[in-house]
Amino acid sequence: MLIVQKFGGTSVGGLERIENVANIVKKYKEKGNNVVVVVSAMAGETNKLLEYANHFSKTPPQREVDLLVSSGERVTSALLSIALQAKGIEAIALTGRQAGIKTTSDHTKARIMDINPDNMQKYLKEKKVVIVAGFQGINEEGEVTTLGRGGSDLTAVAIAGALKADKCEIYTDVDGIYTTDPRIEPKARKIDIISYDEMLELASLGAKVMQSRSVELAKKLNVDIEVKSSFDPEIKGTLITKETEDMEKVLVSGIALDKNQARVSIFGVEDRPGISAEIFNKLADKNINVDMIIQNVGKDNKANLTFTVPETELELTKEVLKEYKNNAENVEYDNEIAKVSLVGVGMKSHSGVAAKAFDTLAQENINILMISTSEIKISMVIDEKYGELAVRALHKAYELDK
Ligand code: ADP
Ligand code: ASP
Ligand code: MG
Repeated sequence: MLIVQKFGGTSVGGLERIENVANIVKKYKEKGNNVVVVVSAMAGETNKLLEYANHFSKTPPQREVDLLVSSGERVTSALLSIALQAKGIEAIALTGRQAGIKTTSDHTKARIMDINPDNMQKYLKEKKVVIVAGFQGINEEGEVTTLGRGGSDLTAVAIAGALKADKCEIYTDVDGIYTTDPRIEPKARKIDIISYDEMLELASLGAKVMQSRSVELAKKLNVDIEVKSSFDPEIKGTLITKETEDMEKVLVSGIALDKNQARVSIFGVEDRPGISAEIFNKLADKNINVDMIIQNVGKDNKANLTFTVPETELELTKEVLKEYKNNAENVEYDNEIAKVSLVGVGMKSHSGVAAKAFDTLAQENINILMISTSEIKISMVIDEKYGELAVRALHKAYELDK
C-alpha cells in the first residue's frame, strides 16, 4: 500500500514531536507500506518569518517572502529524515522542487499546475521513506513559490493524487473534524464522515483544520482524506469523501467562525449600469478576494455598496478604493466583524434553517449585519466580540452536541 501522511505544525513543533512523527512513520513503513510524508514548518515558524520580513517592510517583495517562508518546511523535512535514518529507516528529504512540484507564478498563493513524480517514485522504488517539504513548489522560471497559508495540506493531497496513493492521512492536533472548533465549543462532537462539499464550505468559511484549496483538489482528484491526531494515531479520525445519501439526512453538519474578514461600505456611489463592474474589476485586478456583497436600492441616483474582504487584503483594498473616493460620498472600513456560518448538505431539502438561525441570534441579542446563503450554507456577519457566543448558541440550537 502507498500512504501519504501529512504532519502539521504542532505535530512537528519540537524535537520530541518530530521523534514522535518518526515513530508513527516507522510503524507504517515496517508494516511493508510505501510512505510519502509531507511536513509543515514547526508551529509558529511561518508567522515568525513573516514578522521578520515585516520588520523591514510593510509590503516586502513577494519573491523574497516565498524564499524566506519556504525554509520552515525544509527544516522539518530534513530533521525528520535525520530522525528516521537514526532509527534505521531509510529516508530522503526533498524540497518542493526536488519533489517535482510545478506551480503558477503567483508568489505567496501559487497554484499547483503539475507534479512530475519521477523523483519520488525513484526513491520509493529504493524502499526509502520520501519526505517532502510542504507548502512550496517552483514556477516556470525556477523561482520558489508557496501555496498559501495551510498549503502543506494541498501538497499532501496533490502528491496523493499524482502518485495514486491508496491513502491520504492528515495528522494534526485534533483527532478529526468536529461539529465546530473544539477550542470554541468543548461540547463539539467528532464527525465520522463528511462530504467534500461540506468540508470545502467549512474550510473556506473559517475552519482552518483543512486548507480549503486542498479539499477542492481532493474532490477533483477523488482523493479520500482521513484527518487524525498525531498525539493519538491509533484513534480513528474523520473521513472526507464523496457525498452519500445518508449524509443528506443531517441538516447542519458543522459551524464555522471566521474573524479574519473586514467589511467595506461605499456610500453614495453613482447608481448606473456598470458601476459595480468597475469597482469589482479593480479589486479583482489586484487579486483581492471579495466575498459577501450587498447593494441597496438606489435613491436620488445614489446607492450604497457593502462587501467583505479578507483582513489581510484590507490595506490593498484601501489603496484601490482611494482613487474611487472621488466618485463616492464616503468609504468606511470595519475590521471588527466575524462571519458565523452553518453548513450541511441536508439544507438542500429542508426549509426553515435560516429562520431558526436568525431566531437563535436574536435571543442572544446579537445583531446581524449581513447575510448570505447558498444551497448548503448560511453565513451571517456579526460584531466580532459575539463570534464565539454565536457559535455556541447555534451549536446548541441545532443540537450538534447530541
Ligand atoms: P496543523 O498545524 O496540523 O495544520 P491547524 O492549526 O491548521 O493544524 O488546524 C487544526 C486546528 O483547527 C485545531 O486545533 C482546531 O482548533 C481548529 N479547528 C477549527 N475548526 C475545526 C473543526 N471543525 N474541527 C476540528 N478542528 C477545527
Ligand atoms: N507553514 C505554512 C503555514 O503555516 C503551511 C502549513 O503549515 O500548511 O501556513
Ligand atoms: Mg493547517
